[in-house]
Amino acid sequence: MSAKVFVITGPSGVGKGTLIGELLDRVDGIEASVSATTRQPRPGERDGREYHFLERSDFDRRAAAGDFLEWAGYSGNRYGTLRSEVERRRDAGASVVLEIEVQGARQVRAAMPEAVLVFIAPPDPGALRERLVGRGTDSDEQISERLRVAEDELAAHDEFTHVVVNDSVERAAAELERIVACELQSPR
Ligand code: ADP
Ligand code: 5GP
Repeated sequence: MSAKVFVITGPSGVGKGTLIGELLDRVDGIEASVSATTRQPRPGERDGREYHFLERSDFDRRAAAGDFLEWAGYSGNRYGTLRSEVERRRDAGASVVLEIEVQGARQVRAAMPEAVLVFIAPPDPGALRERLVGRGTDSDEQISERLRVAEDELAAHDEFTHVVVNDSVERAAAELERIVACELQSPR
């Protein structure tokens, strides 16, 4: 079994975090990369656990130094995957899962053609708004901005090898688990 990089992408609120949580519970030998961001922590989020929360100047300095495998501007903030997050886990023999938006997923595909990319799609057009409202972490204004970005992101789904519709968590998690298990079995 060889260590792999899995990219889980798709619009905000579609359930990427939820499905990755299920995946980490179900599949051994796979770890989540902790991204860096310039956005403010939400209540309950801890530096180094959900994200590495960086000042904009620090983020930009690290971007200029080439510390990021990928990074993107999203909804007024920056988000990126530190190379060290991926390398440290792969060096220890683990596969790594990245939860990132679409621009970042394209950068990973260009930098690492062997990475496995999975797009998570909503079951119907209204689901994203319902889920973002239900999650209760974003203001109405932030939700509108995320839904605006989602229109372009949804149009990008056919760029990705795997598309999983998150209709029910149980069904979608089982499909994602099958994709990941199958990739982990293959030699490269
Ligand atoms: P993302 O990480 O893509 O922004 P989350 O995993 O935070 O999305 O999910 C957004 C909200 O939708 C959360 O409140 C989550 O509990 C809920 N959710 C996730 N998957 C489903 C589903 N299949 N059906 C209904 N609600 C879901
Ligand atoms: P949130 O603010 O809801 O935590 O994240 C907003 C968006 O940024 C989500 O679509 C999330 O997947 C994405 N994101 C989180 N980390 C990264 C990252 O390291 N790189 C990129 N490109 N996007 C990220």
